[in-house]
Amino acid sequence: VTAVRLAEQVWLVGTGGPGPAHTNPYDCNQYLVWNGTDGVLIDAGSGIDSRPWLDNVAEVTDFEALHGVLLTHWHGDHAGGAAFAQANGLTVWASPLTSDALSTGDEERTQARRAREAGVYPADYRLQPAPGIGALVPGAAFAPRTLHLSVIDSPGHCDGHLVFGLPGANDDSGPTLFTGDVIFAGGTVSLQAIPDCRIDLYGETVASLARLDAAALFPGHGHDLQDAAAIAADFAFANSHFDRLIPPPNWLV
Ligand SMILES: [Zn+2]
Repeated sequence: VTAVRLAEQVWLVGTGGPGPAHTNPYDCNQYLVWNGTDGVLIDAGSGIDSRPWLDNVAEVTDFEALHGVLLTHWHGDHAGGAAFAQANGLTVWASPLTSDALSTGDEERTQARRAREAGVYPADYRLQPAPGIGALVPGAAFAPRTLHLSVIDSPGHCDGHLVFGLPGANDDSGPTLFTGDVIFAGGTVSLQAIPDCRIDLYGETVASLARLDAAALFPGHGHDLQDAAAIAADFAFANSHFDRLIPPPNWLV
């Protein structure tokens, strides 16, 4: 396995999808944001075997230059590796809701038990407790040293979901968005039959993200988009469904 540079400051360092960065079939896309001086990781994967993830990160930078792992949300494929990251000296950050649920590895609030029983995870999969996760405030910035990421409240796929944004390269260029499980290439979404999937809030979240006019989109699954027109078209596709009160097509089928 090996890290894949996707953009000037973005590497793919783990994924359940194909390619050299593949770590584990149960992992989401895990990104490294690295500007040459400072960096963060976005999402921690399932935790089933986290060593290849951090080995990929080590190909690009020393852990000492990283300001931690930002979690988009509490689902096992994104948050299960949080405890492993902490055991390797990395600080983990998430929304207050996510931080609270993961502190005890709460498989009810995070839906890990339900997902396991549905066959999403192996029968012996358990969400590892990760106490001491730092709380990110939606609407505020996560801005250590030379980094600046916006922290965007984005409920709908599940409670406590966050999207992270890097500022555009210049005044004319929109932000780079790390969208977790909110929206994927093609304008698909992830609606699941779980108690905290809220389709009305989902529509509001997608509409507000569309207004940011992103220049690049790095989703939690599937491939990225680095074309503002294509991103706008995908948001318009999803919004056209929500506007008619119809769920957009699911990324998972
Ligand atoms: Zn999810």
